Amino acid sequence: MAIFEKFRELAAARQTLMESSMDPFNVVIEQILSATEAIVGGRRTILAGTNNYLGLTFDPRCIDAASQAVQEEGTGTTGSRMANGSFAGHVALERELADFYGMATGIVFSTGYLANLGILSTLPGKNDVILLDADCHASIYDGCKLGDAEVIRFRHNDPADLEKRLQRLGDRTTRTLIIVEGIYSMLGDRAPLAPIAAIKKQYGAFLLVDEAHSLGVLGKHGRGLAEEAGVEEHVDFIVGTFSKSLGATGGFCLSRRHELELLRYASRPYVFTASPSPSVIASTRMALHILRTSPDLQTRLWDNARHLYKELQSLGFTLGPEPSPVVATILPKKEQAVALWNGLLKAGIYVNLILPPAAPNGASLLRCSVSAAHTEEQISKICQAFASLKPSP
Ligand code: PMP
Repeated sequence: MAIFEKFRELAAARQTLMESSMDPFNVVIEQILSATEAIVGGRRTILAGTNNYLGLTFDPRCIDAASQAVQEEGTGTTGSRMANGSFAGHVALERELADFYGMATGIVFSTGYLANLGILSTLPGKNDVILLDADCHASIYDGCKLGDAEVIRFRHNDPADLEKRLQRLGDRTTRTLIIVEGIYSMLGDRAPLAPIAAIKKQYGAFLLVDEAHSLGVLGKHGRGLAEEAGVEEHVDFIVGTFSKSLGATGGFCLSRRHELELLRYASRPYVFTASPSPSVIASTRMALHILRTSPDLQTRLWDNARHLYKELQSLGFTLGPEPSPVVATILPKKEQAVALWNGLLKAGIYVNLILPPAAPNGASLLRCSVSAAHTEEQISKICQAFASLKPSP
């Protein structure tokens, strides 16, 4: 059929991949056993590719909060907050997130993806500029596409390139929104936020940090990279998600400025979709409370992350530039990545396979995401499997 013809190339690539492998992008988790284990292909498998950084998806307190919300408030809100009103939990969670970050106000969205769409499609307008790190997440790019601002990329993690592009903007710098991420999801590297914040201040621009992968992971209180780098006062907007450290689905944007509230009336990805279910809000509120009161989870997460990074490095794998809960193994050939991914799955280890063009610089990646809930034994098993399956050079 003509309408599907454009997918012919994609279908051929998929066919080639399937000849040597189970479809890596369509894996079915037959039974989920815990935050770190599942049955996949009939086999007990260690989950080493989720973003369940603090392991809270099976925390009994989160489960109880969600169960109670289902009993008391039902399974869904069945509508948008603008049309159907907010549940008290939505408002409470927004207040709790804003308090945690010391921000004036915040808006909860139905996913992290929608949080970026909601802000970037609406806040920067026709005469404004978005300057984004080239390796920013798809949700940031898609949000930019939906809006009217001029979009300019700067080289990944290169403050000098950012400054060069700001200089070219002349007096438009005060209408410019700079966007970076706390931890980049592909290679697990952090933004050089201190110099970026200094440049932002010097040129009078605005700064948005997407802390999706750094909430609960970085900073003494778990607020993310801006906290760790000591530059929170220079960050104008924080975007985050509930789908990683907070173990649910949903997203948020926080701001120092009360005017963010106006976006509730203007942002289509906020207005025209159903609000998060009561159970999601309840478990997220509990997870945020646990994140704030259990710094030991962050310690455990980092012990596991450093352990895995060090072991894979000593085995001679090429990894992302610094230890982080996202441990990416970079393989020069796509075929090697597919073979290793299959071997790992057969050995009971499930990691993410990322093929070009999704990863930076045309690389193929096997991405492990470490959790505080992984045991030492599980981390050792992951390392042993990588060791026994290492491709010959
Ligand atoms: N921002 C970043 C940096 C992300 O990596 C992701 C998801 N991986 C998102 C936003 C979207 O979040 P969600 O999956 O919760 O919609």
